[in-house]
Amino acid sequence: MHKLSIWSRNVSPSPTLAVDAKAKALKAAGESVCGFGAGEPDFDTPEFIKLAAEKALRDGMTKYAPAAGVPALRSAIAEKYVRDNNLPGIEASQVVVSPGGKFSCYLAILSVISPGDEVIVPAPYWVSYPEMVKLAGGTPRVITTEMEDGFKITPDLFEEAINSKTRLIILNSPSNPTGAIYTKEELEALVSVAIKHNIYILSDEIYEYLLYDGAEHHSPASFSQEAADITLTVAGFSKTFSMTGWRLGTLVAPPEIAKAVASLQSQTSSNATTFAQYGALAALQEWDRSMDAVKGMLQHFDRRRLKLLEGLNAIDGIECNRSEGAFYLFPRIKSLGMNSMEFADKLLDEKKVAVVPGEGFGAPGYMRLSYATSDEIITEGLTRLSDFCSNL
Ligand SMILES: *Cc1c(COP(=O)(O)O)cnc(C)c1O
Repeated sequence: MHKLSIWSRNVSPSPTLAVDAKAKALKAAGESVCGFGAGEPDFDTPEFIKLAAEKALRDGMTKYAPAAGVPALRSAIAEKYVRDNNLPGIEASQVVVSPGGKFSCYLAILSVISPGDEVIVPAPYWVSYPEMVKLAGGTPRVITTEMEDGFKITPDLFEEAINSKTRLIILNSPSNPTGAIYTKEELEALVSVAIKHNIYILSDEIYEYLLYDGAEHHSPASFSQEAADITLTVAGFSKTFSMTGWRLGTLVAPPEIAKAVASLQSQTSSNATTFAQYGALAALQEWDRSMDAVKGMLQHFDRRRLKLLEGLNAIDGIECNRSEGAFYLFPRIKSLGMNSMEFADKLLDEKKVAVVPGEGFGAPGYMRLSYATSDEIITEGLTRLSDFCSNL
């Protein structure tokens, strides 16, 4: 028998990847599966980004790069944050490029959390946050929200959850899994509480460009120098440019914290893949082209979002918010009299429709559906889901 560490014993495997694996196994066995589990865009990476990485590969960018990232890319990221996110005077030295936004989040947490510290995690949360906090020796303190709250916490709820051990709050707008977006005013109020109590903010903005219905994205670090001094902003290339497999995440933080993150990375992963970083550099250097590609994806996402939303709300027992970001809907199924795990399991077994149960997001009674899938699958999936629900 092996004696596993407390880290291994405490960590739960990702439930989103588990659903995906089961759906893929069914597909491989020849079943026609309607998959709503995907956490990635179903488009290819824009061609000019691929070409830039290919050129870098050919030009010999196949060796180690500085741990914190290729200097030209760090500069381009700093410029983007000043130009596009209104962050005050960001320098390249405040930027760290990591192998994926997920690793950026983990290093951000590791850089400010010590054993015994508490981290406020609003639920529904991205599955990895509580696990990452535990892997840093911290304790996640979950604040629950419901669809009536728009899945958003208030400054009062935030303040009530603070105690002497609280060091960090994790915000994720637009949200995975709910698609909810905080307005500028809402974020400013939360940032004020964080400043007042000297609590760091991890702002995960990986979906910052996936917005609908005229919604706007705001970075907490843009509100004031004081806000920038307590905020670690994470984003990346995965969702915006359909580059999930490239593994490129970004972190922008106050100089001292960025330096700590770079040190942590230098002793763990080292640099993100060198030639991949040149693809990302092209995405930033040819910004108008990149934004055109994003606009193209958004048109498809928006059409599918509205179709899925309408179909879900037409089913008795399912209620869904019109959320304005990312590529997820997060309907409530509480009144169907079954927990989400059981619901998702039966739905996949009986109708071959894959959804992710809310439990993994700290939200039993809900489920996550990704609309990063084809119109045909959405139509067929809704028919099967409706049949399933009417026979419960
Ligand atoms: C996808 C995702 C990330 C980062 O993904 P990477 O593939 O590691 O770049 C970070 N946060 C949230 C909420 C996500 O959904």
